[in-house]
Amino acid sequence: MYLRTSMNTETTQEVKVLLKTPKKVVIVGHKNPDGDAVGSCMGLYFFLKSLGHTAQVVMPNEYPTFLKWMPGNDTICIYEKETEKCQQFFEEADVVFTLDFNALNRVGDLQEVLENCDAKFVMIDHHQAPDNYAVATYSDVSMSSTCEMVYHFMDALGRLDVLSAEIATNLYTGIMTDTGSFRFSSTSPTTHRVIAHLMEAGANGTEIHNNIYDTNTPDRLKLLGIALKNMTILPEYNTAFITLTQQELDDHNFKKGDTEGFVNYSLSVLGIKFAVIFIENKQENIVKISFRSKGSFSVNEFARTHYSGGGHTNAAGGKSDKNLDDTVTEFISILPNYKNALEADA
Ligand code: 5GP
Ligand code: MN
Repeated sequence: MYLRTSMNTETTQEVKVLLKTPKKVVIVGHKNPDGDAVGSCMGLYFFLKSLGHTAQVVMPNEYPTFLKWMPGNDTICIYEKETEKCQQFFEEADVVFTLDFNALNRVGDLQEVLENCDAKFVMIDHHQAPDNYAVATYSDVSMSSTCEMVYHFMDALGRLDVLSAEIATNLYTGIMTDTGSFRFSSTSPTTHRVIAHLMEAGANGTEIHNNIYDTNTPDRLKLLGIALKNMTILPEYNTAFITLTQQELDDHNFKKGDTEGFVNYSLSVLGIKFAVIFIENKQENIVKISFRSKGSFSVNEFARTHYSGGGHTNAAGGKSDKNLDDTVTEFISILPNYKNALEADA
């Protein structure tokens, strides 16, 4: 039987010691939280509460409406909106769990609060190159999602007995969104075993899928139409990219999460191995970039090298401080350096 590594004994011991007596725990996800960030934080929240701890989830900023049905999400405190209340949670915390990120610069303005927090930190994360800020680090880049890791975390603590429908629904959601509905290469046989158990515990896959994906507004679909019209194919580099200007977003009443998944359409073009979307953000004065790839071309390295970003081998993000046109021009000028890598493997 093919089995993935679980949390190692040393980390398990450290966590057991930390959680031996009831603790005040704050759980944090990354900026611009996605399904895996919200799902893993909320899954862990219900788990820790059922073990008798006090728990509170804090997110750096707002998350998309299509995640707002997730069990317990109405208890989340958003730092950007309720700054003082969130600060208070960190002041009183014994333990801080950081989920679905591995460097403190991934939490935006919350970074300073985390850096000055006296609590003991635990990291659960599946991104590359983890920083060293936690007393217990559970990092595994082979994992499909942080949600899958929270399941293994519960297993390592010997407490899968408290797996409830609320936990299962949250964890299922993050595994589903981070694996592109169980199709990305990080989806292992173990991932499917975990999913099977989550369904047995009360996660309803059909409902979850509907709640996440069948929430299009006409504006969002029209924006997708614009994005597809704006797609440029560079066959010599097996690359496709999309641009969206702030004006195009404004014209379609853009809301957080509306562009989620757009980049995958570029990656679905026959022969394309590298797909990128550039999204102008006038408020932050940046261009936010998402990178996706197929095969061995590492968008994590590409994003780290050129765009102050990172992520996984096949999915990463970053940003540019240049304007949209200059960002695209620069991107095209970089590609010749990667011609060989982009031609390698099918
Ligand atoms: P997305 O393109 O969907 O925003 O993100 C793809 C992956 O890259 C996610 O795992 C996300 O956490 C990571 N990611 C996105 N933006 C950044 C960034 O600016 N820095 C780093 N280190 N990772 C990012
Ligand atoms: Mn994730």
